[in-house]
Amino acid sequence: MQNGFLTLANRIGDFLDVSQDGYAIFSADDILIGCNQAFADIMFIEFDQIINQSFNQLFNIAYKNQQGPRIETHDIERWLEIANKKRRVREFRLFEVDLIDGRWFLMSEQLLPSGELLLQAKNITKQKVVEQTLFEHTHQLTSLAATDELTQIANRRSFIGKVNSEINRCKRSNHKLTFCLLDIDHFKKINDRYGHQVGDNVLRQLASLVKKALREYDHFGRIGGEEFGILLPDTTAAEAEEITNRLCSQIMTTTFNDEDNPVNITLSVGLIESWPDCTFELLYNQSDIALYQAKDNGRNQVVTQDPVKSVTD
Ligand code: GH3
Ligand code: MG
Ligand code: MG
Repeated sequence: MQNGFLTLANRIGDFLDVSQDGYAIFSADDILIGCNQAFADIMFIEFDQIINQSFNQLFNIAYKNQQGPRIETHDIERWLEIANKKRRVREFRLFEVDLIDGRWFLMSEQLLPSGELLLQAKNITKQKVVEQTLFEHTHQLTSLAATDELTQIANRRSFIGKVNSEINRCKRSNHKLTFCLLDIDHFKKINDRYGHQVGDNVLRQLASLVKKALREYDHFGRIGGEEFGILLPDTTAAEAEEITNRLCSQIMTTTFNDEDNPVNITLSVGLIESWPDCTFELLYNQSDIALYQAKDNGRNQVVTQDPVKSVTD
Protein backbone atom coordinates (compact mmCIF):
# COMPACT_ATOMS: atom_id res chain seq x y z
CA MET A 1 0.00 0.00 0.00
CA GLN A 2 2.79 2.39 1.06
CA ASN A 3 4.74 1.52 -2.07
CA GLY A 4 1.63 1.89 -4.17
CA PHE A 5 1.09 5.37 -2.69
CA LEU A 6 4.68 6.44 -3.34
CA THR A 7 4.37 5.31 -6.94
CA LEU A 8 1.17 7.32 -7.33
CA ALA A 9 2.80 10.41 -5.74
CA ASN A 10 5.78 10.11 -8.11
CA ARG A 11 3.52 9.71 -11.10
CA ILE A 12 1.45 12.75 -10.09
CA GLY A 13 4.68 14.73 -9.80
CA ASP A 14 5.39 14.02 -13.46
CA PHE A 15 1.95 15.31 -14.40
CA LEU A 16 2.25 18.49 -12.29
CA ASP A 17 5.22 19.67 -14.35
CA VAL A 18 3.20 19.64 -17.56
CA SER A 19 -0.26 20.34 -16.11
CA GLN A 20 -2.35 23.23 -17.47
CA ASP A 21 -3.48 23.77 -13.87
CA GLY A 22 -1.25 25.90 -11.66
CA TYR A 23 0.24 24.39 -8.49
CA ALA A 24 2.18 26.25 -5.81
CA ILE A 25 3.31 25.43 -2.29
CA PHE A 26 3.92 28.17 0.26
CA SER A 27 5.88 27.62 3.48
CA ALA A 28 4.37 28.37 6.89
CA ASP A 29 5.89 31.88 6.67
CA ASP A 30 4.36 32.34 3.21
CA ILE A 31 7.43 31.90 1.00
CA LEU A 32 6.85 30.15 -2.33
CA ILE A 33 8.88 26.97 -2.00
CA GLY A 34 7.73 25.26 -5.17
CA CYS A 35 5.44 25.67 -8.14
CA ASN A 36 4.95 24.43 -11.69
CA GLN A 37 5.29 26.35 -14.95
CA ALA A 38 1.52 26.92 -15.19
CA PHE A 39 1.53 28.82 -11.89
CA ALA A 40 4.48 30.99 -12.99
CA ASP A 41 2.51 31.75 -16.20
CA ILE A 42 -0.54 32.83 -14.18
CA MET A 43 1.65 35.25 -12.18
CA PHE A 44 3.50 36.40 -15.34
CA ILE A 45 6.81 35.92 -13.51
CA GLU A 46 9.77 33.98 -14.99
CA PHE A 47 9.95 30.47 -13.58
CA ASP A 48 13.53 30.92 -12.33
CA GLN A 49 12.61 34.15 -10.51
CA ILE A 50 9.45 33.06 -8.79
CA ILE A 51 10.78 30.62 -6.17
CA ASN A 52 11.60 32.05 -2.72
CA GLN A 53 9.43 35.10 -3.23
CA SER A 54 6.91 35.74 -0.47
CA PHE A 55 3.21 35.85 -1.20
CA ASN A 56 3.27 39.65 -0.71
CA GLN A 57 6.28 40.05 -3.02
CA LEU A 58 4.56 38.01 -5.76
CA PHE A 59 1.48 40.20 -5.68
CA ASN A 60 3.53 43.38 -5.45
CA ILE A 61 5.33 42.33 -8.66
CA ALA A 62 2.01 41.49 -10.40
CA TYR A 63 0.56 44.85 -9.31
CA LYS A 64 3.64 46.81 -10.40
CA ASN A 65 3.80 45.08 -13.81
CA GLN A 66 0.02 45.17 -14.30
CA GLN A 67 0.19 41.56 -15.44
CA GLY A 68 -1.23 38.37 -13.97
CA PRO A 69 -4.08 38.56 -11.45
CA ARG A 70 -6.31 41.64 -11.71
CA ILE A 71 -5.74 43.72 -8.59
CA GLU A 72 -8.24 46.55 -8.39
CA THR A 73 -6.89 48.94 -5.80
CA HIS A 74 -5.01 52.19 -5.40
CA ASP A 75 -3.40 50.87 -2.25
CA ILE A 76 -1.63 47.52 -2.73
CA GLU A 77 -0.53 47.35 0.93
CA ARG A 78 -4.13 47.64 2.11
CA TRP A 79 -5.20 45.11 -0.57
CA LEU A 80 -2.59 42.62 0.68
CA GLU A 81 -3.67 43.19 4.27
CA ILE A 82 -7.25 42.23 3.33
CA ALA A 83 -6.09 39.27 1.19
CA ASN A 84 -3.92 37.95 4.04
CA LYS A 85 -6.82 38.14 6.47
CA LYS A 86 -8.71 35.67 4.28
CA ARG A 87 -5.80 33.26 3.85
CA ARG A 88 -4.87 30.54 6.33
CA VAL A 89 -8.06 31.08 8.31
CA ARG A 90 -9.66 27.84 7.22
CA GLU A 91 -8.16 24.50 6.27
CA PHE A 92 -9.63 24.77 2.78
CA ARG A 93 -11.07 27.56 0.69
CA LEU A 94 -12.18 28.08 -2.92
CA PHE A 95 -12.27 31.39 -4.76
CA GLU A 96 -12.22 32.78 -8.27
CA VAL A 97 -9.53 35.04 -9.69
CA ASP A 98 -9.49 36.86 -13.02
CA LEU A 99 -6.33 37.85 -14.84
CA ILE A 100 -5.66 41.11 -16.65
CA ASP A 101 -5.52 39.12 -19.93
CA GLY A 102 -9.16 38.02 -19.43
CA ARG A 103 -8.56 34.46 -18.18
CA TRP A 104 -10.39 33.19 -15.11
CA PHE A 105 -9.10 30.66 -12.55
CA LEU A 106 -10.78 28.72 -9.82
CA MET A 107 -8.31 28.68 -6.93
CA SER A 108 -8.21 26.31 -3.99
CA GLU A 109 -6.03 26.67 -0.94
CA GLN A 110 -5.36 23.65 1.23
CA LEU A 111 -3.61 24.30 4.54
CA LEU A 112 -1.56 21.55 6.20
CA PRO A 113 -1.18 21.37 10.01
CA SER A 114 2.53 22.21 9.44
CA GLY A 115 1.45 25.61 8.06
CA GLU A 116 2.36 24.74 4.49
CA LEU A 117 -0.22 25.78 1.98
CA LEU A 118 -0.99 24.19 -1.38
CA LEU A 119 -2.53 26.49 -3.98
CA GLN A 120 -4.20 25.00 -7.07
CA ALA A 121 -5.46 27.06 -9.98
CA LYS A 122 -7.82 25.63 -12.59
CA ASN A 123 -8.57 27.54 -15.78
CA ILE A 124 -12.33 28.20 -15.92
CA THR A 125 -12.30 30.87 -18.64
CA LYS A 126 -14.62 28.86 -20.93
CA GLN A 127 -17.17 28.34 -18.16
CA LYS A 128 -16.97 32.04 -17.26
CA VAL A 129 -17.65 33.06 -20.87
CA VAL A 130 -20.70 30.76 -20.94
CA GLU A 131 -21.80 32.16 -17.56
CA GLN A 132 -21.43 35.75 -18.81
CA THR A 133 -23.35 35.00 -22.03
CA LEU A 134 -26.14 33.34 -20.03
CA PHE A 135 -26.22 36.30 -17.66
CA GLU A 136 -26.51 38.75 -20.57
CA HIS A 137 -29.24 36.68 -22.26
CA THR A 138 -31.18 36.40 -19.01
CA HIS A 139 -30.87 40.15 -18.55
CA GLN A 140 -32.12 40.79 -22.10
CA LEU A 141 -35.02 38.34 -21.66
CA THR A 142 -36.00 39.87 -18.32
CA SER A 143 -35.97 43.33 -19.84
CA LEU A 144 -37.96 42.12 -22.90
CA ALA A 145 -40.52 40.44 -20.66
CA ALA A 146 -40.99 43.69 -18.74
CA THR A 147 -41.27 46.01 -21.75
CA ASP A 148 -44.28 46.91 -23.85
CA GLU A 149 -43.29 46.13 -27.43
CA LEU A 150 -45.01 49.11 -29.08
CA THR A 151 -44.09 51.91 -26.69
CA GLN A 152 -40.93 50.50 -25.08
CA ILE A 153 -42.14 51.52 -21.62
CA ALA A 154 -43.04 49.12 -18.76
CA ASN A 155 -45.78 46.69 -19.71
CA ARG A 156 -48.80 46.02 -17.52
CA ARG A 157 -47.22 43.18 -15.55
CA SER A 158 -43.96 44.93 -14.73
CA PHE A 159 -45.75 48.22 -14.00
CA ILE A 160 -48.03 46.46 -11.47
CA GLY A 161 -44.95 44.89 -9.86
CA LYS A 162 -43.28 48.30 -9.55
CA VAL A 163 -46.43 49.89 -8.16
CA ASN A 164 -46.76 47.17 -5.53
CA SER A 165 -43.14 47.51 -4.39
CA GLU A 166 -43.49 51.30 -4.29
CA ILE A 167 -46.66 50.96 -2.21
CA ASN A 168 -44.72 48.81 0.28
CA ARG A 169 -41.82 51.27 0.36
CA CYS A 170 -44.14 54.22 1.01
CA LYS A 171 -45.95 52.26 3.73
CA ARG A 172 -42.64 51.66 5.51
CA SER A 173 -41.57 55.29 5.22
CA ASN A 174 -45.09 56.62 5.87
CA HIS A 175 -45.00 58.68 2.68
CA LYS A 176 -47.88 59.44 0.33
CA LEU A 177 -47.95 58.41 -3.31
CA THR A 178 -50.46 59.21 -6.00
CA PHE A 179 -51.65 56.92 -8.73
CA CYS A 180 -52.76 58.43 -12.06
CA LEU A 181 -54.75 56.67 -14.77
CA LEU A 182 -54.39 58.26 -18.22
CA ASP A 183 -56.63 57.54 -21.19
CA ILE A 184 -56.52 59.14 -24.64
CA ASP A 185 -59.79 60.83 -25.56
CA HIS A 186 -61.72 59.48 -28.57
CA PHE A 187 -58.77 57.38 -29.65
CA LYS A 188 -61.00 55.10 -31.66
CA LYS A 189 -61.81 58.08 -33.93
CA ILE A 190 -58.07 58.60 -34.56
CA ASN A 191 -57.70 55.00 -35.68
CA ASP A 192 -60.86 55.24 -37.79
CA ARG A 193 -59.77 58.48 -39.44
CA TYR A 194 -56.03 57.96 -39.96
CA GLY A 195 -55.58 54.20 -39.69
CA HIS A 196 -54.13 51.87 -37.07
CA GLN A 197 -50.55 52.62 -38.06
CA VAL A 198 -50.97 56.31 -37.25
CA GLY A 199 -52.70 55.32 -34.00
CA ASP A 200 -49.60 53.28 -33.15
CA ASN A 201 -47.34 56.26 -33.88
CA VAL A 202 -49.41 58.42 -31.56
CA LEU A 203 -49.16 55.83 -28.77
CA ARG A 204 -45.38 55.59 -29.20
CA GLN A 205 -44.86 59.36 -29.26
CA LEU A 206 -47.19 59.95 -26.34
CA ALA A 207 -45.34 57.37 -24.24
CA SER A 208 -42.02 59.01 -25.06
CA LEU A 209 -43.33 62.49 -24.25
CA VAL A 210 -44.78 61.43 -20.88
CA LYS A 211 -41.63 59.53 -19.95
CA LYS A 212 -39.50 62.61 -20.63
CA ALA A 213 -41.83 64.79 -18.59
CA LEU A 214 -41.64 62.59 -15.49
CA ARG A 215 -38.99 62.47 -12.76
CA GLU A 216 -36.44 59.66 -12.78
CA TYR A 217 -38.03 57.89 -9.83
CA ASP A 218 -41.63 58.07 -11.10
CA HIS A 219 -43.11 54.90 -12.62
CA PHE A 220 -44.88 54.83 -15.94
CA GLY A 221 -46.42 51.90 -17.77
CA ARG A 222 -48.90 50.90 -20.44
CA ILE A 223 -51.81 49.24 -18.73
CA GLY A 224 -53.50 48.26 -21.99
CA GLY A 225 -54.70 49.77 -25.29
CA GLU A 226 -54.58 53.57 -24.97
CA GLU A 227 -54.60 53.50 -21.18
CA PHE A 228 -51.44 54.33 -19.19
CA GLY A 229 -50.58 54.44 -15.50
CA ILE A 230 -48.26 56.80 -13.64
CA LEU A 231 -47.20 56.30 -10.08
CA LEU A 232 -45.77 59.37 -8.40
CA PRO A 233 -43.90 58.39 -5.22
CA ASP A 234 -43.74 60.84 -2.31
CA THR A 235 -46.38 62.97 -4.01
CA THR A 236 -49.75 64.17 -2.72
CA ALA A 237 -52.87 64.25 -4.90
CA ALA A 238 -52.67 68.08 -5.01
CA GLU A 239 -49.10 67.92 -6.35
CA ALA A 240 -50.05 65.17 -8.80
CA GLU A 241 -52.93 67.31 -10.04
CA GLU A 242 -50.47 70.06 -10.93
CA ILE A 243 -48.10 67.64 -12.65
CA THR A 244 -50.81 65.94 -14.72
CA ASN A 245 -52.56 69.21 -15.60
CA ARG A 246 -49.25 70.46 -16.99
CA LEU A 247 -48.90 67.20 -18.90
CA CYS A 248 -52.43 67.50 -20.36
CA SER A 249 -51.68 71.07 -21.54
CA GLN A 250 -48.41 69.94 -23.11
CA ILE A 251 -50.16 67.09 -24.93
CA MET A 252 -52.98 69.31 -26.14
CA THR A 253 -50.45 71.66 -27.79
CA THR A 254 -48.23 68.92 -29.25
CA THR A 255 -48.57 67.71 -32.81
CA PHE A 256 -48.35 63.93 -33.03
CA ASN A 257 -47.67 61.53 -35.92
CA ASP A 258 -45.83 63.54 -38.63
CA GLU A 259 -45.94 66.85 -40.51
CA ASP A 260 -47.89 65.40 -43.46
CA ASN A 261 -50.54 63.87 -41.24
CA PRO A 262 -50.53 65.89 -38.01
CA VAL A 263 -52.70 64.49 -35.25
CA ASN A 264 -53.86 66.28 -32.12
CA ILE A 265 -55.02 64.45 -29.05
CA THR A 266 -56.23 65.19 -25.56
CA LEU A 267 -55.95 63.16 -22.40
CA SER A 268 -58.25 62.46 -19.47
CA VAL A 269 -56.74 61.58 -16.11
CA GLY A 270 -58.11 60.04 -12.92
CA LEU A 271 -56.08 60.44 -9.70
CA ILE A 272 -56.12 58.84 -6.30
CA GLU A 273 -53.79 59.36 -3.35
CA SER A 274 -52.59 56.29 -1.46
CA TRP A 275 -53.97 55.18 1.90
CA PRO A 276 -52.39 52.77 4.40
CA ASP A 277 -53.85 49.47 3.15
CA CYS A 278 -54.15 50.25 -0.55
CA THR A 279 -53.10 47.83 -3.29
CA PHE A 280 -52.63 48.24 -7.04
CA GLU A 281 -56.15 46.90 -7.69
CA LEU A 282 -57.74 49.33 -5.21
CA LEU A 283 -55.76 52.30 -6.56
CA TYR A 284 -56.70 51.30 -10.09
CA ASN A 285 -60.42 50.94 -9.28
CA GLN A 286 -60.56 54.32 -7.50
CA SER A 287 -58.62 56.15 -10.24
CA ASP A 288 -60.89 54.52 -12.84
CA ILE A 289 -63.94 56.07 -11.12
CA ALA A 290 -62.23 59.48 -11.33
CA LEU A 291 -61.27 58.85 -14.98
CA TYR A 292 -64.88 57.99 -15.81
CA GLN A 293 -65.87 61.27 -14.18
CA ALA A 294 -63.29 63.17 -16.27
CA LYS A 295 -64.73 61.63 -19.45
CA ASP A 296 -68.26 62.42 -18.30
CA ASN A 297 -67.30 66.04 -17.56
CA GLY A 298 -66.20 66.54 -21.17
CA ARG A 299 -62.70 64.94 -21.32
CA ASN A 300 -59.28 66.73 -21.54
CA GLN A 301 -59.10 67.17 -17.77
CA VAL A 302 -57.84 65.75 -14.48
CA VAL A 303 -60.24 64.53 -11.78
CA THR A 304 -59.10 63.57 -8.29
CA GLN A 305 -61.01 60.89 -6.45
CA ASP A 306 -61.92 61.65 -2.83
CA PRO A 307 -59.42 60.12 -0.37
CA VAL A 308 -60.21 56.58 0.72
CA LYS A 309 -60.41 55.91 4.45
CA SER A 310 -58.32 52.94 5.51
CA VAL A 311 -60.33 49.94 6.74
CA THR A 312 -58.02 49.92 9.77
CA ASP A 313 -58.80 53.61 10.60
P1 GH3 B 1 -62.77 57.63 -24.74
O1 GH3 B 1 -62.54 59.06 -24.93
O2 GH3 B 1 -64.07 57.33 -24.06
O3 GH3 B 1 -61.64 56.96 -24.07
O4 GH3 B 1 -62.91 57.01 -26.19
P2 GH3 B 1 -61.90 56.06 -26.93
O5 GH3 B 1 -62.30 56.00 -28.36
O6 GH3 B 1 -60.52 56.43 -26.66
O7 GH3 B 1 -62.14 54.71 -26.16
P3 GH3 B 1 -62.45 53.27 -26.65
O8 GH3 B 1 -62.17 52.38 -25.48
O9 GH3 B 1 -63.84 53.21 -27.24
O10 GH3 B 1 -61.40 52.96 -27.78
C1 GH3 B 1 -60.10 52.72 -27.52
C2 GH3 B 1 -59.45 52.46 -28.84
O11 GH3 B 1 -58.06 52.25 -28.72
C3 GH3 B 1 -60.01 51.23 -29.51
C4 GH3 B 1 -58.80 50.47 -30.02
O12 GH3 B 1 -58.87 50.16 -31.36
C5 GH3 B 1 -57.66 51.45 -29.79
N1 GH3 B 1 -56.42 50.75 -29.47
C6 GH3 B 1 -56.17 49.96 -28.42
N2 GH3 B 1 -54.90 49.48 -28.50
C7 GH3 B 1 -54.35 50.00 -29.62
C8 GH3 B 1 -53.08 49.85 -30.25
O13 GH3 B 1 -52.14 49.18 -29.77
N3 GH3 B 1 -52.88 50.53 -31.40
C9 GH3 B 1 -53.84 51.31 -31.95
N4 GH3 B 1 -53.58 51.94 -33.08
N5 GH3 B 1 -55.06 51.43 -31.39
C10 GH3 B 1 -55.31 50.79 -30.26
MG1 MG C 1 -59.78 56.42 -24.67
MG1 MG D 1 -59.51 53.27 -22.78
